[in-house]
Amino acid sequence: MNDAVATAILGDAVLDPREVARQFPVLEQSVHGKPLAYLDNAATTQTPAAVLDAMRRFEQHDRANIHRGVHTLSQRATDAFEAARATVKRLVGADGRHELIFTSGTTDALNLLAQGMVLAPEGEPLLRAGDEIIVSGLEHHANLIPWQQAARRAGASLRILKPDAEGRIHVQDLRALLSNHTRVLAITQCANATGYCPPLRELLAVAADAGAITVIDAAQSVGHGQLDVAALGCDFAAFSAHKMYGPMGTGALVGRRDLLERLAPLRFGGDMVDTVSFEEATFADLPARLEGGTPNVGGIVGMAAAARYVADLNAHGLSAHLAALRAHGVEGLRQIPGLRILNPDAAEAEAIISFVSDNVHPHDIGTLLDEAGVAVRTGHHCAQPLMRHLGIVATTRASFAAYNTHQQVDQLIAGVASAIKFFQ
Ligand code: PLP
Repeated sequence: MNDAVATAILGDAVLDPREVARQFPVLEQSVHGKPLAYLDNAATTQTPAAVLDAMRRFEQHDRANIHRGVHTLSQRATDAFEAARATVKRLVGADGRHELIFTSGTTDALNLLAQGMVLAPEGEPLLRAGDEIIVSGLEHHANLIPWQQAARRAGASLRILKPDAEGRIHVQDLRALLSNHTRVLAITQCANATGYCPPLRELLAVAADAGAITVIDAAQSVGHGQLDVAALGCDFAAFSAHKMYGPMGTGALVGRRDLLERLAPLRFGGDMVDTVSFEEATFADLPARLEGGTPNVGGIVGMAAAARYVADLNAHGLSAHLAALRAHGVEGLRQIPGLRILNPDAAEAEAIISFVSDNVHPHDIGTLLDEAGVAVRTGHHCAQPLMRHLGIVATTRASFAAYNTHQQVDQLIAGVASAIKFFQ
């Protein structure tokens, strides 16, 4: 999909979710005889025809391996891959100081970063013994465990920026944790388990002032068009295409070029080398240096189409639409006795509503919602330490995307109310 096609899809109008939904073939189905209300977008968004078409076009007309062929298809595939890099960089506000490395997703990107900081085949590693890594207590396991492992391997220590009892992060708590040894602050732009968005700009500024390398997990924000690495002033950000209307198994690490140059490559092999002898190898420049092996080129082409799609949604009022859906959901769920919504405050939350009932287990609520055609996620959302900190075992989580309607929010509210009534 090019920009002209994207604009044709949405026209000049304010975002109409029914019009958007028509672009998503998977949403046309019923579940248990009920129209599908897909509210599990924080786990994975669905993919529009424009993205599916871009991938199919690549596989049918341009498929070849990249960077090492002189033939026409290889050159076309290489051009498509590098054009995709430029497109995704544009979506996330990367400028001349940044480079973007394609990965298989957020998890892969954060592992590439954390492990690459520890190992340094040439020069000084970015993480050394005695350094301190601060990770927020809001994180998905993907932005915690790589840092636990990196700390262990480097002889560094891990410090947790704990949220308060409501799950909020405070800048003064970060100030208290920072020291001369702080090397990294890793924090999410939006907590996937609760929807809470920490005061990122302030936190990043305070950490950068103290000399820390700042890392954002943007998995939940990239699909809302909310990631702008230059404006935020972060050093690195990681995200996945499948949470921004793109394919699974693709994603990226974007970061400051001078810092990326100091990461050790972890995937040695084809495409990432300069010269190789039987005894040793020298490595290529960025970005190839960190992209060893054949990438998912068709997926990356789809990721670029998704990036254009998100940019277009964003220009047509995506944020306002998501905020209105969330406000509607919070308002309706609040009326249900015995239900507690985590982080209900609209000013501090993204398109996620996470809630617990006094009497009914989230899995029971999720199962009855499924029977009513409503897809939500239940469980600890890969954030076990945060759940434990909040004194919760699991939540039910509804999360919104451009194609969700207010009618579906009503379907959610009615489904939750009847599930709770059923089990009481
Ligand atoms: N970080 C956050 C905040 C997430 O919500 C997720 C996925 O749910 C991840 C990281 C991991 O993303 P992926 O599984 O695409 O690597």
